[in-house]
Amino acid sequence: MPYSADRGKKSVSRQALDELKQQIPLLEYLQTHDWQPARQLSRGRLMGLCPLHVDHKPSFLVDPLKSLFYCYGCGRGGDVIRFAELYHQVKFPQALALLHQWRGLAPLLHEVARFYRVQLHRHGDAVAYLRQRGVRSPELIEHMQIGYAPGGCLRSWLTRLGYPLQALRQVGLVTAAGYDAFIHRIVFPLEGNLYGRSISTSAPPHRFLPGAKGGLYLWQQIRHCPEVILVEGLFDYAVLWQAGFHNVTCSMGNHLNARQYGQLCDGPRTIYLALDADANGSGQQATQSLACRLTEQGMNVRRVSLPDGHDPNSFFVEDGDARQFQLLLEAAQ
Ligand SMILES: [Zn+2]
Repeated sequence: MPYSADRGKKSVSRQALDELKQQIPLLEYLQTHDWQPARQLSRGRLMGLCPLHVDHKPSFLVDPLKSLFYCYGCGRGGDVIRFAELYHQVKFPQALALLHQWRGLAPLLHEVARFYRVQLHRHGDAVAYLRQRGVRSPELIEHMQIGYAPGGCLRSWLTRLGYPLQALRQVGLVTAAGYDAFIHRIVFPLEGNLYGRSISTSAPPHRFLPGAKGGLYLWQQIRHCPEVILVEGLFDYAVLWQAGFHNVTCSMGNHLNARQYGQLCDGPRTIYLALDADANGSGQQATQSLACRLTEQGMNVRRVSLPDGHDPNSFFVEDGDARQFQLLLEAAQ
């Protein structure tokens, strides 16, 4: 069987590849990975910063009609499959698997996030919870696309739209028993996932859909900043962004996955670590070991010391302001 080693690639027919590419327009795929065009050229072509490396002037050309890209900075180009290979740093078969997964999941999660955003403004208890966590500005709610899962209504909405129940179970939006999985939770859309924060004290506080939590939060929007602030919770992100610190990102937990770590180290930058300072010291330990690893990679790392027992969210909720946080950044070592 001399050809068996190559069978994985050969078994994907040209026709199947063309179909996949037709179903996933490059521009749409780029946009769900936070890419934004900086300007429009002739014949509908777009130019923006290259998502494949640190880019300071737009050199990434996208032709939405042909679904092709080319970067004048790094000289790489191709179709959506090539882009997925380069962006996720995987080989051809894994890129195909990721694209298949994206095709199934992205439109559904988009629909879910839209539904939950409408619910937020119908539920006073959810809005009150957001206030209590320091989230006030409508711009912030829009920027993070914050929604609310009341429970007991998503399943019927999606099945009415034609999504089969089996698919909803598979993604984890509906439990095996047939109920909405997210109940009484503030919901934040992530890259290929959702995060739900319970507003009731009787349920576990944090919940994701099964699968990877994705990369750093809205990384494409800030990866060109020479200085970034890393926090571990989305409510930490929220109060900082609201206070005007837009160069912030979030790892959703004090452990970074390989993808998030790779993103943080993809170019020279100064990283301010503003992780939680827990009473038992585990947060400080996590910060310490992360700081060491990042320094080994040549990053300029500063540790932000929050007052004892505080995270950035509680710091701002308890009357901390942008000026005071700026002083903490300047004092960071
Ligand atoms: Zn490039």
